[in-house]
Amino acid sequence: MSDEFLLLNPGPVPLTDDVRGAMDEPLVSHRSTAFEATYERAQRDLDYVFSQSTLDGRTTGNGTSLILNGTATMGMEMAVANLTDADSEIVALVNGKFGRRFKRIAERHARITPVEVAWGESFDLDAVDRAITDDTDLVTMVHNETSTGLLNPVAEVGELASEHDALFVVDGVTSIGGDAFHIDDWHVDVALTDAQKALAAPPGISAIYVTDRAAAAATGESAPFYEDLDWHLRKSEDNQTPFTSAVPLFRALAVAVENIREEGMDTRIRRHRRQSRAFRAGFEAFGLDSFPTVEGPTQLSNTLTAIDLPESVKESPEAFFDAVGERNVSISGGQAHLGGEIFRVSNMGNLTAEQVLRGVRTVGESLTEIGVDCPVTDGVDAARQQLEL
Ligand code: PLP
Repeated sequence: MSDEFLLLNPGPVPLTDDVRGAMDEPLVSHRSTAFEATYERAQRDLDYVFSQSTLDGRTTGNGTSLILNGTATMGMEMAVANLTDADSEIVALVNGKFGRRFKRIAERHARITPVEVAWGESFDLDAVDRAITDDTDLVTMVHNETSTGLLNPVAEVGELASEHDALFVVDGVTSIGGDAFHIDDWHVDVALTDAQKALAAPPGISAIYVTDRAAAAATGESAPFYEDLDWHLRKSEDNQTPFTSAVPLFRALAVAVENIREEGMDTRIRRHRRQSRAFRAGFEAFGLDSFPTVEGPTQLSNTLTAIDLPESVKESPEAFFDAVGERNVSISGGQAHLGGEIFRVSNMGNLTAEQVLRGVRTVGESLTEIGVDCPVTDGVDAARQQLEL
């Protein structure tokens, strides 16, 4: 196999050499000043990512970035469990696997009103409006639904949450670090992301942005022990976490977010948008259909692409995924009931234009190999046009 392995799953995403190298340095104690310096650097650059993903140079948000010793699900639960108690009312928006996960977490901690549509469909904002009332304490939603490739309307839902003074917790796991995110304008109280997605750091840790309003609302008494928000906030003042930190992962994250600051969030967001347009144009030229349906303010994701598999491929999808794998490229299928129905590719992180073109070509060649009529060159050309600066 001559081509290098190419990871195009919507997380984890490829690491640059400097990020990988950061994990290989001699270990230090998680209570050392060396670790504190790492935490401080990572936190400073995460503040930048969370607060300057605005595309217009504005800084947004008034709060604190925390690095968590756990994946994004820890951040989701930390937000819900610290901001509610058993008597709280949560409105949980579900149009994919990760919206459903937020709902499941919410159910364990409070009373919930779900607003659900089929995975891949846009939310009906009138239904959301009806669900959020003056009794609502907190609203959960996913910005970029990784399972379906939809970019959900956080601004509009944030407005509704704000009208009723409800706290608004947003999963930006596959948007923050790769797409625009406006904490203030969208009335977001807690935003969360994961190291292994658009930040392009290794899996295992995550980050959460807690506005001062959310910090003040943390209930304290019902806080879980490991995910105690107030404790994390206090420890972060000393560039520490309450428990043993995953030192090599924190170091890698610090380098990854420093790289983002060097690239600049506006440049990075524009690059991600260009690359997702390229994937879409390529697949469209192959005659493939986008999986999700967009209506109203909902958009297609700028960080990953979800495509409906041709009917003939759905009969035995393994042959397609095997052909992709044989070309040393890794892509994702659908999750849960979407298994065998769709495929997903990511453009999160630091992909080059050549890697995007290779992704498009690989899908085209793999479809051709299993007997689907697919104009490979047309697709690659269509993608290339989108990548031109
Ligand atoms: N939220 C979204 C949108 C995700 O894509 C993921 C992971 O893919 C998660 C949350 C949860 O991440 P983890 O399973 O790593 O905790």
